[in-house]
Amino acid sequence: MIKMYEDIIEIAKRRGFFWPSFSIYGGFSGFYDYGPLGVLLKDNIIKIWKENYLQDSTAFLDTPNLTPEPVFKASGHIDRFSDIACECTKCKNKFKLETVLKFNKIEKIPKNLKEGLELVEEFKLKCPVCGTIIKNISDFNLMFKANDMYLRPETAQGIFVNFKLLYNYNKGKLPMVVGQVGKGFRNEISPRQSLIRLKEFNQCEIEAFFDPEHLEFKELYAYSEIKLLPNNGNPFYGNIAEAYDKKIIPNKALAYFVLKTQVILNKIGIDNDKLRFRQHNPDERAHYASDSWDAEAIIDDEWFEIVGIANRTNFDLKNHDRESRESMKINIDNREIIPYVIEPSYGIDRIIISLLTQSVYKRDNGYNVLKLDSRVSPFHLAIFPLMKKEKLVDKAKNFYSELLKNDKYIIYDDVGSIGKRYARQDEIGTPYCITVDFQTLEDDTVTIRCRDSMKQERKKISDLLTNKYGEIIQ
Ligand code: AMP
Repeated sequence: MIKMYEDIIEIAKRRGFFWPSFSIYGGFSGFYDYGPLGVLLKDNIIKIWKENYLQDSTAFLDTPNLTPEPVFKASGHIDRFSDIACECTKCKNKFKLETVLKFNKIEKIPKNLKEGLELVEEFKLKCPVCGTIIKNISDFNLMFKANDMYLRPETAQGIFVNFKLLYNYNKGKLPMVVGQVGKGFRNEISPRQSLIRLKEFNQCEIEAFFDPEHLEFKELYAYSEIKLLPNNGNPFYGNIAEAYDKKIIPNKALAYFVLKTQVILNKIGIDNDKLRFRQHNPDERAHYASDSWDAEAIIDDEWFEIVGIANRTNFDLKNHDRESRESMKINIDNREIIPYVIEPSYGIDRIIISLLTQSVYKRDNGYNVLKLDSRVSPFHLAIFPLMKKEKLVDKAKNFYSELLKNDKYIIYDDVGSIGKRYARQDEIGTPYCITVDFQTLEDDTVTIRCRDSMKQERKKISDLLTNKYGEIIQ
């Protein structure tokens, strides 16, 4: 496989998608800024996510990042949201014990610190950087504390604590789907690989509430085949409805959100041959989950979780029911229940880095092309005057302001040669470029060039103003 991750990191910084934060002070691992193009790309991805969930009558919420301690005491995050950390006594590098075990080719995952200590004793684990034998390990809570508050490690609790208000808003009906876009904060022990493991990251989370006796949502409609890796080791490739019938995903609501996730990721531009859904082993699951499936995307030759889809049962609501002043119980057909929750949690930063690495390729001349769909590309169209001559510039700028009336995602560029400008737009994923030349001054026609075919056609300005550019050039 051609490796594109390093290329994307370089392009992203040079062109303005993203770069390490605070670099003038030496940089701090785990923090990345989105630049001008990255902001547009991120917004477009979130828009696709939001519009697809609006189709399921999702209600959206916006709650604070800072969260008081009792919320995370109840949710189990204070006691259980931790990793086992180790620090090398010689080189002082910090790692997750899991990483050190993997490096030492030990396939065990310790459930607690005691088991971790036993593994350290038994296998004499070597530091992945300097080879020194690892001695010190400790429990490391992943939440950031700020005075008497915590920065939320997931947006979900903001939804759970509002369950009763939302249920009222939803006119007392289940299922009820609620979403939130926001930042999550985790004090990762070894943040790495740019957007993949950040200390502050972007989440789009859905909490879907169900009557536990009716754990189903919409029908499992026919769509592309899906690749499932259940934890019994027998991969499945086929239709999601079949996977449900065969009890590979025995919960219809969970199966629906796995399907929905595939649809959304495809719309964003993640291809099915670079996507799979892997079920967690029981010892891998988060403390709140009874079943979990990760949507994993391949970056170069490594698979990464980009969306986590969990059956959280009524774990969270039950705990808030017990610990808060609000009852989370509702009455349905004379039954008192605490709803069950299915949660698809989308990590936008990992979706972005997967999308970019999967979309970039090199032309024969060595130039990079970012093959983004116009639904996500920062710009739909670029417009250039052939040369920086007053008449051409005026004409191009006039045309540009006319086009802006219908579409704001257009960029004007008159810097450098035309060839350089095409190359620049190809590298940032702009699907079409229009050039205003001398003939335009005579007959109001321009050339429109397609990024993917590199074909150029002459078209009337009036046609381009009234039609979608993509339909004009085939
Ligand atoms: P989780 O709650 O751990 O299943 O996380 C949900 C999603 O958030 C994951 O699928 C990732 O895409 C994303 N995510 C979790 N932790 C990080 C992190 N440290 N940096 C970037 N993205 C993350």
